[in-house]
Amino acid sequence: MPKSKKDNLFGKSLKDLEQIVLSLGEKPFRAKQLFNWLYDNRIKAVRDAKNLPKELLEKLNENYTIVHPKIVEVLEDEEDGTKKYLLELEDGELVESVLMKYDYGNSACLSTQVGCAMGCSFCASGKNGKVRDLSSEEIAGQIVAMENESGERISNIVLMGMGEPLDNYENVLNFIRFTNEVLGIGQRHITLSTSGIVPKIYDLAKEDLQINLAISLHSAFQDKREKLMKVAKTNPLNELIKAGEDYFDQTGRRVTYEYTVIEGVNDTEADVSELKKLFKGKVHHLNLIPLNPVSNLKRESSKKNVNIFQERLKKEGLTSTIRKKNGANIEAACGQLRNRKLQSPST
Ligand code: SF4
Repeated sequence: MPKSKKDNLFGKSLKDLEQIVLSLGEKPFRAKQLFNWLYDNRIKAVRDAKNLPKELLEKLNENYTIVHPKIVEVLEDEEDGTKKYLLELEDGELVESVLMKYDYGNSACLSTQVGCAMGCSFCASGKNGKVRDLSSEEIAGQIVAMENESGERISNIVLMGMGEPLDNYENVLNFIRFTNEVLGIGQRHITLSTSGIVPKIYDLAKEDLQINLAISLHSAFQDKREKLMKVAKTNPLNELIKAGEDYFDQTGRRVTYEYTVIEGVNDTEADVSELKKLFKGKVHHLNLIPLNPVSNLKRESSKKNVNIFQERLKKEGLTSTIRKKNGANIEAACGQLRNRKLQSPST
């Protein structure tokens, strides 16, 4: 997709649109009409803003365009309706997004960077490092691309796709405010998932937001966590948990600790005891994630292990839920589709 020389209208605030409309010699109320076309009707081209005067449409067309990420590939899990998208950005870079269906509405898992610098050992996205940050429009554009393709409205967002959101702090913050104020998705319906960058968690707590925070924990042992996640070396566990408590104190929003259960690695009796020590007297909630299984046999065994692990946690007074497995039939773990495309661009 060659990068357009025209400025992208998608992502502009009402104030920005007013300035554009005034600069083209039109009345300010036209900005509100354009705003409604862009964000309520999610139009894909300037000419689709039907009730704007022809003259204004022509002037807009000369200088502006509407760009959302382009869909390259869609995989659908017929069992649960989960759709995984490979999307191309204006400069040709690829990212992945996932649309999941729940009883309470549709949830989108979005990418915040092309690649990732965090290098977690279990993750395909971080395999080749970070290429670049996504702009706030590119993050929000994933929502519109998926809504346009699926015909469904998205009501919940998880920033859990490719990239570390707190490593793209300003753009992610702008995205959250834009999505809340312009696309109408409530902050309490947005979850930011971080690998655990302590100073940025303190910064986020001061932003006066009501979003949910999820921290990837994966082990209560410092050395084991370091082996799984490079970020743990510079963000030790005791400091991470303190930052999580501060987030709760400042925002009143409970922090969720994500825990991918890996058989024989972090689901032993010793792991349970260490988790008990780590969260003693602290507000906590663990979200247990079955490791992405490949065969049906492994899926069953993985489910059984997670259930046993949860029972052990419960006995020790630790609260947890098991994450519903979406898209198990389409390899919904992040980064896999992009890596496959990069390895064989002609497929
Ligand atoms: S798990 Fe998240 S933070 Fe870690 S490498 Fe993958 S995308 Fe980056």
